[in-house]
Amino acid sequence: MPHATSGGPGRIAGDGSVTAHAPAKINVHLAVGPLRSDGFHELTTVYLAVSLLDSVTAWPDDGLSVTVTGEGADGAVPTDSRNLVWQAAELLARHAGVRADAALHIDKSIPAAAGLAGGSADAAATLVALDALWGTRCTRGQLARLAAQLGSDVPFSLVGGVALGTGRGEELSPSLSRRRTDWVLGIAGAGLSTPTVYRELDRLRAVGRLPGGSTAGPPDDVLTYLRDGPDATLSGLLANDLQAPALELRPELRAGLAAMTGAGALGAVVSGSGPTVVGLAEDADAATATAGALSDGGAFRAVRTVHGPVPGARLAG
Ligand code: ATP
Repeated sequence: MPHATSGGPGRIAGDGSVTAHAPAKINVHLAVGPLRSDGFHELTTVYLAVSLLDSVTAWPDDGLSVTVTGEGADGAVPTDSRNLVWQAAELLARHAGVRADAALHIDKSIPAAAGLAGGSADAAATLVALDALWGTRCTRGQLARLAAQLGSDVPFSLVGGVALGTGRGEELSPSLSRRRTDWVLGIAGAGLSTPTVYRELDRLRAVGRLPGGSTAGPPDDVLTYLRDGPDATLSGLLANDLQAPALELRPELRAGLAAMTGAGALGAVVSGSGPTVVGLAEDADAATATAGALSDGGAFRAVRTVHGPVPGARLAG
């Protein structure tokens, strides 16, 4: 497998490859408004990019191909045109008027269908890597517009840090983010499909088992506390309108949330459409201790400690 080892001009390695990394996201706050006429929901979300990174390596080839190692390499992640990296490559090629010629290798640490925007991270990394490989010299603004065509979370995967997302989540207002926060990710055995979770939310609202609109409240305090703390206050503000439908579809996630706080997290919430449970830790040592306690318990398939904010998609080296 070609490996980017040098950081020279354009970050093209000796074997002609380019590697880019992009982070997982968690939704510290996710308010889901009503269904729009275009089939999407109006969102207000606070995104946080965390230190769990996928990498995409691109090198010259005839035509497109995709290979995967790591999380989801057992078949959960497609290697054809259904893969977002494939779609990102075709979109950039069309935009720039070049041939979509590249072999793309994804090394995944971000679990698939986990509510962590793994596919979006890969798409953002692909835009950055291929822009360098193909010399298409897109501005960050152009890449952001392409990202928004690929998926609601892809613009944030490109930008990283902390941002308020509105619209489908693709309209971003980056926020000041001096403060580091530490988190524990509890990763479930099987993924959840994002459209299924939204449909379940609509159903629960339609039958009156949930209020018709968001119950997450405004995001302002979350943004303030991500900027200057304290964490203990932030734990009371974690909110996600998709948690109720995710719990309806996966009742065992209740035990996961309880296990997370039982193991010492200050607060716990489902990330995005789930099923990953994120726990807020007081600091890095507390996150390690919580993760250690959870790995003995069996509530999750895997447990990871991460911190945020981290930058968005960028070239390696
Ligand atoms: P989000 O939080 O952005 O809604 P997610 O993190 O729950 O998404 P992804 O990991 O992005 O979910 O994967 C969702 C589905 O997208 C997968 O089940 C898979 O079929 C498909 N997919 C396409 N490209 C990728 C990719 N590069 N990595 C993972 N899944 C991908």
